Amino acid sequence: MKKEKLIYEGKAKKVYQTDNPELLIQEFKDDATAFDAKKRGTIRNKGACNNEISARLFGILETKGISTHFVKLLSGREMLVKRLEIIPVEVTIRNVVAGGMAKLLGLEEGKKLKAPVLEYHYKSDALHDPLINEYHIFALELASNKEMKAIARYSFEINHILLKFFDQRDLKLVDFKLEFGRHKDKILLGDEISPDTCRLWDKSTDKKLDKDRFRRDLGDIEEAYQEVLRRVLS
Ligand code: UDP
Repeated sequence: MKKEKLIYEGKAKKVYQTDNPELLIQEFKDDATAFDAKKRGTIRNKGACNNEISARLFGILETKGISTHFVKLLSGREMLVKRLEIIPVEVTIRNVVAGGMAKLLGLEEGKKLKAPVLEYHYKSDALHDPLINEYHIFALELASNKEMKAIARYSFEINHILLKFFDQRDLKLVDFKLEFGRHKDKILLGDEISPDTCRLWDKSTDKKLDKDRFRRDLGDIEEAYQEVLRRVLS
């Protein structure tokens, strides 16, 4: 597989074309940003951790019938993925109150929700990913109703699978963000699933083992990513 032109560089990843028009290479960087890139830094080995964690989680999801863009790992920081037409809607699933939900509704972080909450955010850095609902998505033609029905169903299924997977590894899956895209006539899960995009707390101590350590200057950031990798691979 030949790595060709860089076609996209985001905050945490670079995406390259390959000699196959249907496949891309996703390269994970150590760069970290938070608060709409007002806070910037690097987390040593984050790229390698997120690449391996995402690969393992995509692999687990595939075995449970969820189609993802993941094809295979290529190197420590690179994975081969299917090219998607990304739907500009971020799906957040929450099992425990934290972050944006605590702020929006004036709630304490850590309250377990009676049922998972699904949110949609319009993918726009300039607008700070505003909260939207299905009516916005339909009216603005971001995706069809049929696509959104599939996306919601996959998102809850993914939550069910990951809650169990992390619980078996003594991690609480507090919340996470997913992105989906179109590939041929199918909707596939894209992007990554890692401590950059999930909140993961140790089950017995509630220690945060995710990007909140960077966002909130909690220290031991590299160690937290390594610890999640260790547990995910166990
Ligand atoms: N998240 C993400 N990218 C974003 C915003 C949020 O991956 O641009 C993840 C975040 O890590 C958390 C979940 O989505 O696991 C919910 O985040 P929230 O809406 O609470 O926003 P935050 O507090 O991270 O700004």
